[in-house]
Amino acid sequence: MASNSELFERAARVIPGGVNSPVRAFRAVGGTPRFIARGDGAYIFDAEGKRYVDYIGSWGPMILGHGHPAVQEAVMKAAAEGFSFGAPTEREIELAEEILKLVPSMDQVRLVSSGTEATMSAIRLARGATGRAKFIKFEGCYHGHTDALLVKAGSGLATFGHPTSAGVTPGAAADTVVLEYNNVEQLEAAFAQYGSELACVIVEPIAGNMNFVRSSLAFMSAMRRLCSQHGALLVLDEVMTGLRVGLGSAQAHYAKLIPGFAPDISVFGKVIGGGMPLAAFGAKREVMQHLAPLGGVYQAGTLSGNPVATACGLATLREIQKPGFFESLSAKTRQLVDGLKVVAAENGVPFSADCEGGMFGFFLLPELPQNYTTVMTTDKERFNRFFHAMLDAGIYLAPALYEAGFVSAAHGAADIEATLAAARTALR
Ligand code: PMP
Repeated sequence: MASNSELFERAARVIPGGVNSPVRAFRAVGGTPRFIARGDGAYIFDAEGKRYVDYIGSWGPMILGHGHPAVQEAVMKAAAEGFSFGAPTEREIELAEEILKLVPSMDQVRLVSSGTEATMSAIRLARGATGRAKFIKFEGCYHGHTDALLVKAGSGLATFGHPTSAGVTPGAAADTVVLEYNNVEQLEAAFAQYGSELACVIVEPIAGNMNFVRSSLAFMSAMRRLCSQHGALLVLDEVMTGLRVGLGSAQAHYAKLIPGFAPDISVFGKVIGGGMPLAAFGAKREVMQHLAPLGGVYQAGTLSGNPVATACGLATLREIQKPGFFESLSAKTRQLVDGLKVVAAENGVPFSADCEGGMFGFFLLPELPQNYTTVMTTDKERFNRFFHAMLDAGIYLAPALYEAGFVSAAHGAADIEATLAAARTALR
């Protein structure tokens, strides 16, 4: 049996940094990444046979836990029928219908294979539909790794962004306006300056890529109002929040608090594929008709709507619609978050935490931060020590302080208790 460090060394010889997605490398927290051999319910097992309570869940998709029997059966049946045809299948219609039933702000969806593809296509669609080039994104929100989205704020108000990655040209970043999250004043100023040139605003309604930061009601209302006033489209990136914070996703949550609220374009991923490569973007028919083959906005994919991925997604969506599913998941997540607050208070550690549905975040900060700058004031060394103490105790949290956490339906009361017990020791 190869150890995690042997596998990491071997991986690093053939894969850059030993990983196929950077956050897996444990660069932020140090140490050796765990090579996962298998998952079962709420647990994952590494190459050395050590068991962990999994609070990453493949970064969101595994809302039922690992190896749910109904999903496994659907996937095996689909695989036996064929892996990919590059032609339409009935299952794609079923999945589209299922998603549209849950998210009434859309009339149609297009299925793709990753969140990156979905947000890239959503931006292109917004630009094509409006005939405008510029768009607004917010610091700390991640929308995948397409060039125009790998951009951070310049200095000063409402300046155009600077690439955050080598290989992204200033040209690719030139139409991206980067603003501070939850800052209504900056948003108003940007619309005053560029309103007629803006194709869209793209935002994570609850930002899971700066741990867990909610859009304030004032911020969400202002985005909606300003987009409508200026003819720009509001794009909600629900790749992480979609069917994870509740059946109707984050937009249903905000629609309850802001009468008449709905986005123009929505982006989904993660949960809708149940762990298989699947994502989607959708809107009202009048916007979606701009897409090829109907309209002039090109978008395509060899594996889009893949028959095995759609089977996995459909089986997952059927399970999460069973009565009481989200009530139970939310209660468990709440129990974890409240428990962590108590444990931190016992130890006099500055701590704040929040959750919605099966998604949570915690901060080694006295109050919930409202934007990326504040999130990043966290004492990194302290976070890293906490992360490793938890990992050693068999609790697998996200290996970076700016990532959200996820609870699955497979997590039981005993898992939550074990987590709180480990946290009590770690925080001490
Ligand atoms: N949008 C959001 C909000 C995400 O969290 C992510 C991935 N974590 C993406 C887009 C990109 O999705 P993918 O990794 O599937 O390309």
